Amino acid sequence: MRKVYLDYSATTPVKQEVLNEMIPYFTEKFGNPSSLYEIGAEAKEAITKAREQVAQLIGAKPQEVIFTSCGSESDNWALTSTAHWKKAKGNHIITTKIEHHAILHTCKALEKEGYQVTYLGVGPDGRIDLNELEQAITDQTILVSIMMVNNEMGAIQPIKEAAAIAKKHGILFHTDAVQAGGNIPIDVEDLGVDMLSLSAHKIYGPKGIGAMYIRKGVALPSFVHGGAQEMKKRAGTENVPYIVGFGKAAEMARLQLDDHAARLRELRDYFIAQVMEKIPYVDINGGMEHRHPGNVNLAFNFIEGESLLLMLDYYGISISTGSACSSKSLEPSHVLSALGIPVEKIHGSLRFTVGDFTTKEDLDYTVDCLAKIVEKLRMMSPISAEKGWN
Ligand SMILES: *Cc1c(COP(=O)(O)O)cnc(C)c1O
Repeated sequence: MRKVYLDYSATTPVKQEVLNEMIPYFTEKFGNPSSLYEIGAEAKEAITKAREQVAQLIGAKPQEVIFTSCGSESDNWALTSTAHWKKAKGNHIITTKIEHHAILHTCKALEKEGYQVTYLGVGPDGRIDLNELEQAITDQTILVSIMMVNNEMGAIQPIKEAAAIAKKHGILFHTDAVQAGGNIPIDVEDLGVDMLSLSAHKIYGPKGIGAMYIRKGVALPSFVHGGAQEMKKRAGTENVPYIVGFGKAAEMARLQLDDHAARLRELRDYFIAQVMEKIPYVDINGGMEHRHPGNVNLAFNFIEGESLLLMLDYYGISISTGSACSSKSLEPSHVLSALGIPVEKIHGSLRFTVGDFTTKEDLDYTVDCLAKIVEKLRMMSPISAEKGWN
């Protein structure tokens, strides 16, 4: 049976070129980068190169890039360490209602410690209102953290403008750019952000390796204490093969960015057009203008998204209801709720994300399966019968 993967925002496969670069660092080049003999130095050089590659993807200087264990660690670090560091100045943090759980759950933990958090709402397009951000700032505000690209419905936030507002008030600004990496251009100088989170496994690198950009001059305290690795900013023996893989993935992402994004957009728009032509009562959640090129989030009215997802899985098609992290609970998506979408509609919503290995044939097959399954589910659905839809 055909296998179709349309969940690139959950994770991506490691590219062959990336894996090839990684392999020697598990075996013959296994040295500890802190060691002074040759295989240690070799590992250290490999990290230096990877740091340059990741820095280039986001327009940073290499010294401003610190490797972490994942995007979640970077998010936890930015929020928790800034909060503790700036405690004497204030206890207020501003973020949004649609952040990844790595941000939202860290905010909840900080609230338990006595910090105040403002969660900005978003419009139907999933974007924040900059005036609302400005109005939320108080003399207690120490950090603003706003994601660059939303993982569920793809909204791209006005990060440059938001960071300028924070800067005007002397407040640090962090952005979770995990979904932005490789999909839209990132230039930390142009954006004016102080901290930025990245993760390798969303850009065709390995899982379990991330990075944090920290602007030169921002003395963010460490989060993981121990040895002097990572310029004393993040302890722990470096995960050399994964760092090498992240570097290669970042380099490929940078060189291919424009073509990659154009190709994703074409595939995604083709998919939307086919769905709209072949399946009635489908709506797009969020706006199309400021959106991740490979993301579409669709509401299939009158049916349960979970049933649709499971039946698509039976046909070999992998998609998700939204964030991989929330799909295990039956709570309606916090992101779609924040967009003002009614609960019944959220329950019929699914996220499709295309990527490098997606083909038109994959999408044709998916649309055929979707049309069949949606029709069947609607015939069985009490909601559609009630509304006289049948
Ligand atoms: C995937 C993701 C994360 C978490 O990254 P991990 O490396 O999986 O911990 C954080 N934020 C966003 C927006 C993501 O999509």
